[in-house]
Amino acid sequence: NIKKDVIIIGAGPIGIACAKACKETNLNYLVIEKGSLTNSIYNYPLNMTFFSTSEKLEIDGIPFISNNPKPNRNEALEYYRRVASSNQLDINLYEEANSIVKDGNVFNIQTNKENYTSKKVILATGFYDIPISLNVPGEDLPKVSHYYKEAHPYSMQNVVVVGASNSSVDAALEIYRKGGNVTMVIRGDAIGERVKYWVKPDIINRISEGSIAVHFKSEIEQIKDKAVIVNTPEGKLTIKNDYVLALTGYQPNIKLLEDAGITFSEDGKFIPDYNDETMETNIEGLFLAGVICGGMETHKWFIENSRVHAKKIIQHLTQVL
Ligand code: FAD
Repeated sequence: NIKKDVIIIGAGPIGIACAKACKETNLNYLVIEKGSLTNSIYNYPLNMTFFSTSEKLEIDGIPFISNNPKPNRNEALEYYRRVASSNQLDINLYEEANSIVKDGNVFNIQTNKENYTSKKVILATGFYDIPISLNVPGEDLPKVSHYYKEAHPYSMQNVVVVGASNSSVDAALEIYRKGGNVTMVIRGDAIGERVKYWVKPDIINRISEGSIAVHFKSEIEQIKDKAVIVNTPEGKLTIKNDYVLALTGYQPNIKLLEDAGITFSEDGKFIPDYNDETMETNIEGLFLAGVICGGMETHKWFIENSRVHAKKIIQHLTQVL
């Protein structure tokens, strides 16, 4: 049983920011990460460009030099890796935290590899691990994916992209440009409001010239081996199909928080209860940092506005530890 003052769960940008702040204040800390370093960013599409400029993605003022105003996935991987390695942050990779149980004044953290006891715990677990399902027959076919990596495999194929947000729009445009035949299926009546402002005209023009097909106010009813059945305002359509990219968003692991005793808003958004000055939840000694704070409102927090959580928590911890 390993003893720590602070255990941070998740080595995304914000978990790394927490670790850096702990190191600076000489706290006895450890980060536990279930995947690779910055696993969410690692799983982004290969050509993904951030909507934030590089200085807004920086941790603790360490310069993030990018050749372009908006850095891409590879530059971000490079940056966060260098922040972690050059500061010799203590991070265990490929270790998953399965339970966090408070026992008196300490927490018992059980992972797939080890048991730990810690005085304080920071959850910085993000939201990119659990896709929001379509809940339709055929969703488990191998041709359906909830993550998009790159366009090449979809070249010369009939591809349905479900969703109207940044992920769907980026995928639809890239696949179209690599010679895929793209049909977007969109529940609402327009391309998403939060689509990057410099990408929006591109998708709107490709749709209006007919290069990318779209069905608004439509939903997939069933996915078959060689087709999808779509409910549209004009009635039910059967569309010839090789691949479905269901990019309908992701959700945080609410259960991990719930099992740790954290309470939530009751409006269906599962916004966890926490004090915004200290980031402490209703469980004393258990803190939240990063995009996890938004519950199902996954667009509310991002790196730029949540990196400050690290300083808030550690400032509080230096007073109580
Ligand atoms: P994450 O980066 O998600 O890190 C959480 C980490 O916790 C992960 O590495 C995960 O593996 C780990 N973890 C989860 N559960 C466990 C467990 N039980 N045990 C151990 N480890 C665990 N934000 C921006 O600021 N700018 C952008 O331009 C931007 N673009 C985005 C584009 C896409 C396609 C997506 C999906 C998101 C984008 N975001 C952007 C949001 C962005 O992902 C977050 O802002 C950022 O990654 C949040 O950092 P985080 O540390 O809170 O969470």
